[in-house]
Amino acid sequence: RAKDQGKNTFQFYSAQMNLHTVERLSLETSLRWALEREEFVLHYQPKIDLRSGRAVGVEALVRWQHPDMGLVSPATFIPLAEETGLIGPIGEWVLAQACAQCRAWLDQGLPPLRMAVNLSASQFARSDVLPQVMGVLKRTGLTPRMLELEITESTVMKNAEHSREVLHQLKARGIGLAIDDFGTGYSSLGYLKRFPLDSVKIDRSFVLDLPDDQDNAAITQAVIGMAHSLGLRVVAEGVETEAQLAFLRHHGCDEAQGYCLSPPLPAEALADFLRSRAGRVREAR
Ligand code: C2E
Ligand code: MG
Ligand code: MG
Ligand code: MG
Repeated sequence: RAKDQGKNTFQFYSAQMNLHTVERLSLETSLRWALEREEFVLHYQPKIDLRSGRAVGVEALVRWQHPDMGLVSPATFIPLAEETGLIGPIGEWVLAQACAQCRAWLDQGLPPLRMAVNLSASQFARSDVLPQVMGVLKRTGLTPRMLELEITESTVMKNAEHSREVLHQLKARGIGLAIDDFGTGYSSLGYLKRFPLDSVKIDRSFVLDLPDDQDNAAITQAVIGMAHSLGLRVVAEGVETEAQLAFLRHHGCDEAQGYCLSPPLPAEALADFLRSRAGRVREAR
């Protein structure tokens, strides 16, 4: 079994395998206890501005440090948390932890970074999403401008009317709004313009075979062009090679995230990354 073969193997398998019912049940049971046992941890991946080469933000990505299974990927347990309703308390913990970390870095004298937090569909569907977010900001003493929420295209489209209302309320407070995994759903940028967004994140699947794949190269350029004409910032995710980076920079993409810049890092390692290179990965051209 995958989980007997060590930590990394499980993370690799778990995203793909269809969990057996018994395994699923035990996973669900341990997920219920995970918050109390403090088994969740956040890693942070920098977002690099492609003109200055500096880190301008970080995305908080949750991991589950399971006592037997090792580091479990969010791709495995976030869907389960959604189904079981556990996403409520887990999401609240993530938001509070990410904001507290952002506050701690500020207090340590690190340059201010926007903190991006992912919201899943049922978190976003909650009627109290606005007071929840505002409550966390107040408790951690962060200004709304320092927080950005990442919401997928399909989450936004699930209930467009509700989405519009909530997004307008968040936007009115000054919270940044990003569309995650853009291009994987069915909506167009033009349609999304009806929502008060700040940025779009081009999905990794388009970035993967840049610059060789003609279709994905064309799509990426078109998204950058359209997003800019609509006044949106463009962030590319999953940038793994210098060639991808050069293509994106050449075509005016604003920011990038990916293994070739930095993988998601534990909080202390991210602070070291920022200090040692002042977050500067590459000189602007
Ligand atoms: P996402 O928000 O689209 O996050 C990007 C994913 O791509 C992350 O996977 C990140 O580690 C990975 N990644 C970053 N750079 C590269 C790269 O160069 N190459 C490749 N192949 N992958 C890269 P991760 O951390 O496993 O998260 C997966 C998804 O789980 C996230 O996708 C997000 O939808 C969800 N997620 C993660 N943390 C949270 C959370 O706190 N709350 C909620 N609701 N969802 C979360
Ligand atoms: Mg994201
Ligand atoms: Mg994404
Ligand atoms: Mg993605």
